[in-house]
Amino acid sequence: MRSKLSGAKRQLIIGNSAAAINAIRGIREKDNSCSITVISAEKGNAYSPVLTPYYIARKIPKKTLFVVDHRFYRNHKVKRILGKKAVAIDAPRQWVYLEDNTRLGYDYLLIATGASPVLPAPVRASIEPYVSTLRTIQDAEKIIELARQAKEILIVGAGLLGLQVANAINKPGVKLTIAEYAKHVLPEKIDAECAALIQRRLEDQGISFLFERAVKGFKKKGSKVCAVTEQGEELKANLVVVGIGVNPNTELATRSSGIEIKEGIVIDDFMKTNVENIFAAGDVSEGKNFISGQRQIIPNWSNACLQGRTAGLNMAGHRMKYEGGMTENILSIFGLTLATIGLSKPTGGNVEALKYSNPQKGIYRKILLDDNKIVGAVLLDKMEDSGLIKNLIQNRLDISIWKEKLARAPLDMGKALSALW
Ligand SMILES: Cc1cc2nc3c(=O)[nH]c(=O)nc-3n(C[C@H](O)[C@H](O)[C@H](O)COP(=O)(O)OP(=O)(O)OC[C@H]3O[C@@H](n4cnc5c(N)ncnc54)[C@H](O)[C@@H]3O)c2cc1C
Repeated sequence: MRSKLSGAKRQLIIGNSAAAINAIRGIREKDNSCSITVISAEKGNAYSPVLTPYYIARKIPKKTLFVVDHRFYRNHKVKRILGKKAVAIDAPRQWVYLEDNTRLGYDYLLIATGASPVLPAPVRASIEPYVSTLRTIQDAEKIIELARQAKEILIVGAGLLGLQVANAINKPGVKLTIAEYAKHVLPEKIDAECAALIQRRLEDQGISFLFERAVKGFKKKGSKVCAVTEQGEELKANLVVVGIGVNPNTELATRSSGIEIKEGIVIDDFMKTNVENIFAAGDVSEGKNFISGQRQIIPNWSNACLQGRTAGLNMAGHRMKYEGGMTENILSIFGLTLATIGLSKPTGGNVEALKYSNPQKGIYRKILLDDNKIVGAVLLDKMEDSGLIKNLIQNRLDISIWKEKLARAPLDMGKALSALW
C-alpha cells in the first residue's frame, strides 16, 4: 500500500555517507515513486571513514573503502549532484542553494552532513603540506604520501583516531611521538589503569608519548613543521597528524533561519528538526542517547546508519521511532583489541563498576551497572562478549541474580550468565 505522503514527492538529501545511504534505503523501502536527489561536497560514491586507517596501513585496497557502488544509486533511482556544496536552506520556500547558485526545491529534506575534524589553529598555506587530519579519502592519501618519506612524525591527540593512525604508519626507522592534552591515552574512553596497558604496548613498538601538552599552533622550521605547545615547546616533525576531535557540520543549518542547533542539530525520536519537513541524521545531529535518555551527538557509524534509516522511513511517511543510540567502538592496534560500549566511566549516582585486570597478560575488563542493569563496558583483549553486553544494555535486563557470579568470572560473561539462565 502506498503511504499518504508518497507519490511525486521530492526527497532531497545533503551528504552521501552512512546516514544518507541508509536514508535512501529507508525511503525506497516505503516509496518507489518519489524522486531522490543526493548532494555531496565530495565526488565519489559513499565510503566509510572508519576504514581509512586500514587503507593507510595498506591492509585493504582503495576499492574496499566504498560501501556502495554506482549500481546502488541506479537501483534506488537516485540523482546525484557530486562535488558541490550546499550552502543555504530557504526553509519557508523549501529550497536549497548550492555553491554555484543552483537552487533545488524539496518536499522533504535530510541534512546528513556529518562532522569535520577540528584543528588547534588555522593552518597557513606554507604549513598545509605537512599537516593533516583524517576524515576523507583525500586525507588518507595525503598521510600515505607524507608518511612514505617522513622520519619524524607527530600525532596530536591520543584518542581513537590518533592511536589508529599510529598503528597504521609506525615503522622501523621512524621517530613517532604522540602529544596528548590529558594525562593518559584515550582519556574520554578509559581510566588510567587500562590506559597504562595500551600505552605500554605502543611504547614497546618504539612510540613515545608527551602527556599534558596542548598544541596551540604550527610554524615552519626549515624543511620541517613545528607544533607549538602552550607549555612553550616546539615539537618538530616532517608530518603532523591531528586527531583531537570533530565538529558537526551545522553551518548550513545555521545560515538558514529557524533550525534549532545546540551542539548539533536537535532532532526528535523521528529524526525531525523543529522546522517542518526538515530532518537530520548522523554525526551532525543530536539524537537520543539510549542509556541516559538525553540528546547528544553520538558520532559513530552504526548510529548514523540507524538514524539515517529512521529518517528515510519517516520522510516516506512511515512513522518509525528511534529508540536511541549509544557509543560503541572497537580499536584494534598493535595486536591489542579494545571494545568500549555505552558508558565507559562511572557517572556518579548508582553507577558501579565490576572490574578485573591482569596487567601481565594485558587484560582489562570493566562492566558498569546502574541499578543492576548493564549500562556500559570496557573490554581490553577479551571482547568476545561485546555483542552480548550490547544486547543486555538494549534490553535493560536486571542482572542482580548474576552479579556475584559475574564478579567472580569477569572474563567469562557468557558462562556466568548462561549458568543461571
Ligand atoms: C578515521 C576514522 C575512524 C573511525 N572509526 C570509527 C569506528 O571504529 N566506529 C564507528 O562507529 N565510527 C567510526 N568513525 C566515525 C564514523 O565514520 C562516522 O560516525 C560516520 O561516518 C558518520 O556518518 P555521517 O553520514 O553522519 O557523516 P559523514 O561520514 O561525516 O559524511 C558526511 C558527508 O556530507 C558531506 N557534506 C558535508 N557538508 C556538506 C555540504 N554543505 N554540502 C554537501 N555535502 C556536504 C561530506 O563531504 C561527507 O561526505 C570513524 C571516523 C574516522 C574519520
